[in-house]
Parts: sequence; C-alpha cells; structure tokens
Amino acid sequence: MKKQKRFILSENEMPTQWYNIQADMPTKPMPPIHPQTREPLSAEDLSHIFAAECAKHELDQQHRWWNIPEPVLEKYRYYRSTPLVRAYALEQALGTPAHIYFKNESVNPLGSHKINSALPQCYYCKEEGTTNVTTETGAGQWGAALSYAAKIFGLECAVYQVKISMQQKPYRSSIMRTFGAAVTGSPSMSTRAGKDIITKDPNHPGSLGTAISEAIELATTTPHCKYTLGSVLNHVALHQTIIGLEAEKQMQMAGEYPDVVIACFGGGSNFGGIAFPFMRHNFSGERHTEFIAAEPESCPKLTRGKFCYDFGDTAGYTPLLPMFTLGHNFKPANIHAGGLRYHGAGVIISQLIKDGFMHGVDIPQLESFDAGMLFAQTEGIIPAPESNHAIAATIREALKCKQTGEEKVILFNLSGHGLIDMTAYDQFINGDLMNFAVTDEQIEAQLKTIV
Ligand SMILES: *Cc1c(COP(=O)(O)O)cnc(C)c1O
Repeated sequence: MKKQKRFILSENEMPTQWYNIQADMPTKPMPPIHPQTREPLSAEDLSHIFAAECAKHELDQQHRWWNIPEPVLEKYRYYRSTPLVRAYALEQALGTPAHIYFKNESVNPLGSHKINSALPQCYYCKEEGTTNVTTETGAGQWGAALSYAAKIFGLECAVYQVKISMQQKPYRSSIMRTFGAAVTGSPSMSTRAGKDIITKDPNHPGSLGTAISEAIELATTTPHCKYTLGSVLNHVALHQTIIGLEAEKQMQMAGEYPDVVIACFGGGSNFGGIAFPFMRHNFSGERHTEFIAAEPESCPKLTRGKFCYDFGDTAGYTPLLPMFTLGHNFKPANIHAGGLRYHGAGVIISQLIKDGFMHGVDIPQLESFDAGMLFAQTEGIIPAPESNHAIAATIREALKCKQTGEEKVILFNLSGHGLIDMTAYDQFINGDLMNFAVTDEQIEAQLKTIV
C-alpha cells in the first residue's frame, strides 16, 4: 500500500470560522479583574488597550463559532492550509508502533504559527481606525509576524524585544526592521516601567513580562495606538484554532483520529490552537483524547505553579488573570526557547488543566535539543527551540508505546522552524548548553509575592 506522507486542504475545504471553546466549557473561565477594585472587567474596559473586536472575543462565552473576516481569509490563503505530515522516518528511528503526525506551522510566513493571530489583530485595529500597534516579543517570532501583518494592513508598528533574546537572535530584529517596525530592547530607558526595572536590577536580561509592561505603557500614552499580544489571551488562542480545525479535516483524510495531542507551551496559543477543536469531541463524550502541554523545566508554571489571580506582566499594568503562574516577578533562566520564558498560562487552558481535561509535562533543555536533533535528522526540518519541547514530549509518548506495543496516534504541532536559532544548535552540538532546574524554594519565594 502506498504510504501517504502529506495531507493538504484545497481552498474550498479551508475552515472559514474560528472555534470559541469557551461556549462549550463545563466550567467557564473566571473573568479578568481590575487590580485595585477587584471588579470584573468588561469588553469595553479591555478595548482601551486592545482592538474592540478582540476584546469582545476575549470574554465571549456564548458563540461557539466566529466568522473569519474575508480580508483575513484572503491572507490566510497565501499560506494555508499548512501540511499535516506523517513522521514515518521519526517513527522508524524510534522503533515505535505509534503513528506520529505533525502539523507543520513552520512553513508559514516568518516561520511560526504567530502570523495566524497577527493578521486578524492588525485587520481589526485597522477597521477600528487605529494607526499604530505596539507589542512585546521574546525570541522575535511574534514581533516578526506582527511587523509583517502591520505593514500589509497599513499600520505603524513598535516592538519591545526581550533584551537577552535580542542578543541571542539578532536576525529577528533585522526581520522586524525589514517590515518597517521600530525595535527596542526591553527593559529599556524609554518607558517609566523600563526605567524602574533597570534601576532595581541594571543587568536584568528582560523577560516577556518586562516587555509587555513597556508595550502597554507606550500604547496607553500614544494616541490611536493599540496594544497587541501574541499569546496567553483567549482571543489569540481563538485565532489559532485554525490549526486544529484544519488538522481535524486532515486527520480524516489520513483515516485516523489522535489519541494524544501535544504542543509546546509558552502562554498557550499554539497548544490551544491545535487542542481546542479536538477537545470539543471530548466534552461531548465522543472521544477520549489526551492533551499534553510541554513546558520547559526552567519555567514550570503548569506542573509546579499555582492557580490564582496574577498579573500578566512584571510591572503590574495588566488586569489580574486567573491562571497557573509562577508569580509575575519570576525570572526564567536564559534558555534558548525564548517563546516559553513566560511566568503565566492562558486563562482557558488554566481552567481546563484545573478541571483535569489536559495536563502539562516539563522538559529539560538538553532533552529538548536531543529531540530537535533527531527530528532534523529524520524529517529534514530544523525545529524552533520552543517546538523541540513538543517533539521531546512526543518522543516520550512514542517510547511508552514501544514498551506497551500500543499503536497510538500521536499528533503534535510543529510551531516553528529554527533556522534563525542556529547559535543555539551550535552551542548544543559543542556541549555548551545546560539544564536549568528550579528548586521548590525558588518557586515558593516567588509565589509568596502574588497579591
Ligand atoms: C511564541 C512561540 C511559542 C510559544 O507561544 P505559545 O503561545 O505558547 O504558542 C512556541 N513556538 C514558537 C515557534 C513560537 O514562536
């Protein structure tokens, strides 16, 4: 029998709606609240910072489906559907009876899944009369995607990039500047928040938390400027459900259904994107898929954090969100998976983990690179250091199947490629990378600071 490796949707098979999992959740997520008044925030409150349409989607628990606007669909058609690929060579190298599939978001413009949300966010901003967008970026994937989306929808774009990531991945700032964005390393002296952080700790390497504080400050002090976020929030995961909705159809083409769905976890957008559409069949009792979020050992909010209200940023500018967190002052080690260096987790996923519908695993940095190397050598794609965590978790599951003889169907999301992360691979090959474990005392100390 001929073995089909890649599954692609034709234009008329493409999904035209995003899936809002909030409508189907047995326990609805708790609302974001105001840090001083502790009152729940309305979509109107959120629309001071975000595009109004995104603010509406953020809190909506009624509508199961949202139509993707036609101008966004038109841009999606430039690169979607992305291929669903059966990883035969990886299976063979592992000697596993498991069937391993991956959804390849690494072939997107700018090399990751981030563009799926950058396009609608810029579209809605433009529609609402915004002229400028601002954001934070870690490794630079989100900043790169937003810079491109801002350019094609005619918006000015300013990006705060985590300082350590800017040094580790200089080409990402070049990419952002190629699309006309202004890029600043965070923490910087250009904002009140940045100055405060630098005053307390002159060598602060920056984190997504510091960069978010600076971007929000710029958005709230600049006319016609909106803040955008590449992860964590519900509306971002909503946009990313295009991944899982396509994958569902493509798995049908392959004649299979996943027993396990895996993705790496920073704030939860690519994980939610691939998981939520499959999760709806678990809610209805038709399916019993297992969902695994792979986080770094050095930033273990899902496996060792606490479920409580906390800030999304370091300075405390954001609303308080009910989530798994390590505390908003947690300073993640300088691992190369910059997109996973975030202290908190998306609200929907936090609730679903609390309710036992999904769970996290933590992966040491060296194991993640071992996995990435094997994947590159078998499937011919060099994965982003973030995606290596999903591959490592997949390999763990596939090796379990080897022991039990189970022919499980495993689907993971390849969130991005690593072609601009070769410094990290060089260091790994030279034996210069290390693991960063966090002690219970370190975690306890940070959790105590949560108000
Ligand atoms: C940003 C990023 C991540 C982490 O963000 P999520 O919102 O958790 O998906 C993972 N992989 C890549 C390639 C990224 O760019």
